[in-house]
Amino acid sequence: MKIGILSRNRNLYSTKRLVEAGKEREHEMVVINHKRCYMNITSHKPEIHIDGKLIKGVDAIIPRIGASISFYGTAVVRQFEMMGVYSVNESVAITRSRDKLRALQLLSRKGIGLPVTGFANSPDDTDDLLAFVGGAPVVIKLLEGTQGVGVVLAETTKAAESVIEAFRGLKANFMVQEYIKEAGGADIRCFVIGDKVVASMMRQGKEGEFRSNLHRGGSATLIRITPEERSTAVRSAKVMGLNVAGVDLLRSNHGPVVMEVNSTPGLEGIEKATGKDVAGMVIEFIEKNAKKGKTGTKGQG
Ligand code: ADP
Ligand code: MG
Repeated sequence: MKIGILSRNRNLYSTKRLVEAGKEREHEMVVINHKRCYMNITSHKPEIHIDGKLIKGVDAIIPRIGASISFYGTAVVRQFEMMGVYSVNESVAITRSRDKLRALQLLSRKGIGLPVTGFANSPDDTDDLLAFVGGAPVVIKLLEGTQGVGVVLAETTKAAESVIEAFRGLKANFMVQEYIKEAGGADIRCFVIGDKVVASMMRQGKEGEFRSNLHRGGSATLIRITPEERSTAVRSAKVMGLNVAGVDLLRSNHGPVVMEVNSTPGLEGIEKATGKDVAGMVIEFIEKNAKKGKTGTKGQG
């Protein structure tokens, strides 16, 4: 097969590993910089071009769209779909999971464990919002933040009010969340492919940090997850409609709660922590599932 990886940098660990894993399985691998793609949206003959050339003959794509270019990146994925190219994660599913609020709303409908979360528009509702989630300490987070940026722990009501006021002043969309203190600055990343958790790791924030993101200096270790955690992760990916997903869970006193579902989970942390060939498993999933025009719209909402 000819498999395209949508990535802006061919030197990133995840991109390199996917290229390597594909070549090992005798596929032709091409790295396509989605930011450089442009589209011709003509009826019956949708096309994508790059550097003056028509992109042809791609059987499947693996989108690795950074959060900063979600809009353009998902438009390129959608255009591939219009051309009948199989995308391992479809554009609608990527968009769905990128908005943390939309994602939590969809997960809540399916009864998936979540931290209690509130969302409001008016400053008049701040008191109620804080009351919903049980008062301070609370976590306040931007809807489209990533890598821990825009996630704040407010230890007191006063601090929470100040942060909320600041975010409102910046016209930023944010939500207020129950702080899962018992997680102790650790979370669990479940790497889901299809209907299986193929690898999982525990990430622990560095000393004094409640955010466990590896980009913030967290460290990863191998972990055994419970059957409940496993099924929560698989169901969450399914609700989002993602075939490949990084589902992040916290261990709370009331069972696993989902933090977020990532549509472009990094491979470096998980492969190094587990020693597994996760890139190879992504390619194998494509081998089994890629059919022309098969990308439909899965998930709901
Ligand atoms: P990002 O998309 O920036 O990674 P997350 O919502 O995943 O944002 O939050 C980053 C990290 O902060 C999480 O991995 C977790 O360790 C911590 N965290 C986020 N929300 C909570 C919460 N409600 N309770 C406890 N820890 C949290
Ligand atoms: Mg996260």
